[in-house]
Amino acid sequence: MGRIVLKDVKKSFGETNVIPPLNLEIDDGEFVVFVGPSGCGKSTLLRMIAGLEDLTAGDVEIDGNVVTEVPPSKRGLAMVFQSYALYPHMTVRKNIAFPMRMAGIDEETQKAKIEAAATSLNLTDYLDRKPGQLSGGQRQRVAIGRAIVREPAAFLFDEPLSNLDAALRVGMRLEIMELHEKLKTTMIYVTHDQVEAMTMADKIVVLQAGVIEQVGSPLDLYHAPRNKFVAGFIGSPK
Ligand code: ADP
Ligand code: MG
Repeated sequence: MGRIVLKDVKKSFGETNVIPPLNLEIDDGEFVVFVGPSGCGKSTLLRMIAGLEDLTAGDVEIDGNVVTEVPPSKRGLAMVFQSYALYPHMTVRKNIAFPMRMAGIDEETQKAKIEAAATSLNLTDYLDRKPGQLSGGQRQRVAIGRAIVREPAAFLFDEPLSNLDAALRVGMRLEIMELHEKLKTTMIYVTHDQVEAMTMADKIVVLQAGVIEQVGSPLDLYHAPRNKFVAGFIGSPK
């Protein structure tokens, strides 16, 4: 569960071609980072995988099934955004329970899953608070908790830490990596931050103007950047 394949995926907005046909394979359980400068198409690509953006051409496959026409809620993926998108009037517990309630999961199971997610994310003491009574880092944890309880085939993160201060970002980065260790679920993580990419990824996808410049491990990219753009962006001496 969690193998994602992009086949000749293309995206144009009107006359503007943002993603020329692009191919990519993401293995089950991989931590993949899409990195590249602002405007290069990272969010568009992630949104196409999630089903939040139509494809101009091509197909998205999840675990061998073509999902190009499948609505977002039926793809079995969970998306975590930089704006936390929590319900301000609901407690943390209710926020985390929300997707399970929508899916008609029984109360007992909901309770167990909330407890487990809260333990993983150090939120046990905050379950009865409302988002307004939490720090930025805690709110981001709640957003991740709400994703975890859906037991998605993959987590899609779009610059989830960019609203946090530098010190908090380091901690949250480690927490997301720990979560990946524990769940072993595919994670696709979008960032424009080279340090995040180099420290978190199993596999980095370097994008420039919608084109994949290189795909490889952090060490591959560091030691053997394929061109000047990758070398400059990743910061290796070559
Ligand atoms: P990134 O996430 O890498 O910063 P985006 O995927 O948000 O980049 O955007 C890629 C390009 O597509 C940008 O040039 C952006 O202006 C354009 N774009 C994104 N969404 C739309 C839209 N809804 N309509 C027109 N152009 C868009
Ligand atoms: Mg973006």
